[in-house]
Amino acid sequence: MTRAPLLAVRDLRVHFPATPHAIRAVDGVDLDVGSGETVGLVGESGCGKTTLARAIVGIEPGARGSVRLAGRELIGLARRERRSLCGALQMVFQDPATSLDPRMTIAGILGEALRLHERPVRAEVDVRVCELMERVGLDARLRHRHPHEFSGGQKQRVCIARALAVRPLLIVCDEAVSALDVSIQAQILNLLADLQDEFGLAYLFISHDLAVVRHVADRIAVMYLGQIVEEGRAETVLAGPKHPYTRSLRGAVPSLEPGVPPIVSVRGDVPSAARPPGGCRFHTRCPEAFERCARESPPRVAVGDGTSRCFLADSAPGGEASA
Ligand code: SF4
Repeated sequence: MTRAPLLAVRDLRVHFPATPHAIRAVDGVDLDVGSGETVGLVGESGCGKTTLARAIVGIEPGARGSVRLAGRELIGLARRERRSLCGALQMVFQDPATSLDPRMTIAGILGEALRLHERPVRAEVDVRVCELMERVGLDARLRHRHPHEFSGGQKQRVCIARALAVRPLLIVCDEAVSALDVSIQAQILNLLADLQDEFGLAYLFISHDLAVVRHVADRIAVMYLGQIVEEGRAETVLAGPKHPYTRSLRGAVPSLEPGVPPIVSVRGDVPSAARPPGGCRFHTRCPEAFERCARESPPRVAVGDGTSRCFLADSAPGGEASA
């Protein structure tokens, strides 16, 4: 029997009312994350990744569909019920500077998170704050300082410690290293990997950069204009992408195959989610589009160990689609 995924997202939709057309930021997304697994979610800016992340963690009030965490449905929960569950699902944002209260000390920020979850006695809070700081590579003697006294990488470590404080099952990392220098990015990615080994955490790791995602992901999901267009094991998606959009993203990462020029590069900008193109949403930019693509929307089909939303999925290298 197949084990149910830790996170199961089904037909998730976030449509924002607008004139004259609603903005369909997330439009029928299915996505699974297993316990202890890292799923990388990639796509250009404007593809709906952040809205999807916000809908999953429950801070996007217009979300419709189903988000189940460890079997519990989160969509439609009253605020109080959701709070009792929210410790299991945490989020780390792109900009640590704006996600930490500048008026609070680090001890105050971490202590507040601990009290929300565990209600420890006062003397224990300081001990746990020190443990958390040390676990994420920060000097606990600095706990009475304020966020502005820390570098960007240190602030992101504080954000990770705050997420850890509530003993989560899954952390959604939304562009969590994008604002950091490359050397600091590597340190934070290593920290996330160590914490995953130690605590069995699952991550939904969101990035516009396939080069970053390939370092951390067990599986990769590719998002375009509110939909998942390809999903599969990371090594399969990277070695033989089945969707032209994935091939274009992969082609933009020269270091994947040193000496080999990009296969294709995606042209133009992401169209508006208020008026997505009819037929295949990628057809206005797809170098492989043909007449049918403008008329019909390709279904998401199983191909190899993943899925693809392209009429040519079964003719891509290694592709053999099944309904
Ligand atoms: Fe390109 Fe057509 Fe495939 Fe869409 S269905 S990705 S337009 S080939």
